[in-house]
Amino acid sequence: MAMRVHPALVDTFGRAHTYLRIALTERCNLRCVYCMPEEGVPQRPREELLTLEEIHELARLFVRLGVRKIRLTGGEPLVRRGVEELVARLRAMPELETLAMTTNGLLLAEKLPALHRAGLDQLNISLDSFDPVKFSLIARRPGLERVLEGIELAIALGYRPRINCVVLRGINDDEVLDFVAFARTRPVEVRFIEYMPFEGNRWTTDRLVPYGELLERIGSVYRLEPLAGGPHDTAKRFRIPGFVGTIGFITSMTEHFCSTCNRLRLTADGHLKVCLFGPQEVSLRDALRAGASEEDLVALIDAAVKRKKAHHAGMEVLPHIPNRPMILIGG
Ligand code: SF4
Repeated sequence: MAMRVHPALVDTFGRAHTYLRIALTERCNLRCVYCMPEEGVPQRPREELLTLEEIHELARLFVRLGVRKIRLTGGEPLVRRGVEELVARLRAMPELETLAMTTNGLLLAEKLPALHRAGLDQLNISLDSFDPVKFSLIARRPGLERVLEGIELAIALGYRPRINCVVLRGINDDEVLDFVAFARTRPVEVRFIEYMPFEGNRWTTDRLVPYGELLERIGSVYRLEPLAGGPHDTAKRFRIPGFVGTIGFITSMTEHFCSTCNRLRLTADGHLKVCLFGPQEVSLRDALRAGASEEDLVALIDAAVKRKKAHHAGMEVLPHIPNRPMILIGG
């Protein structure tokens, strides 16, 4: 039976937004150079952030409207106290098909057993270098061993984690083949992410390694066989004969995938963001706290979704459009 999606989740281009990314916090235990400014971001007072109860309430509303996949992000979602209970409550919604999380993996070894018991379905784990020195250079803090330990535990618990690697020219692009090799014997999907501009991350095209170049580099060593993707996939996926794992590319800058976008974002301070790179936002937190009815909330969501643009503005323009630092969006 076709999935019923409320018209409020459908934009003027006919895209049904059935995937909600929820940021649980603005705090993180790393300081990655592509995610936040060197000086960090000012911490918003706790009362300005959604409570776990409010997150659950808004998530339930979006699922009633037709959202079928929720991804928990941050900052770093695992630093949010009560995340395990929230995962269990979200997982209890029968209509929700996939409950996923994107984490930097530092706390995974400690927290994953409980998250797994609570029903977490899918894991994306950020890893940008296998060299401890370079790891600390990119993340501005150490932690490589803990992340690798978390990845191995995820595999042991039966997850097929995606390993998200932001490729930075002159910093970690010399490790691209090491990342590919990581998928030879492990049931993981290594995803190379094109470096994207966000507030305060000093983005330049000089640091961007385009998808085409990555494909050429890897293709000169391995035979890459394209894999069929899902209707809303963000990654271009490939298999390599003889490999257990697969390879993917997130090409937001050089080959955007906006025409099939089904994603909405709820920030930790309760703003609905209809596009990762779009500055428009509406506060669902304020409406909720002002006692808005479900109807009022749906009208706010509808108006925001109907303002969504066909695609992002392109990498020449994006650095000049006001936006949040990535840590305050959740990627
Ligand atoms: S840039 Fe915006 S429209 Fe394009 S895929 Fe990302 S969220 Fe969707």
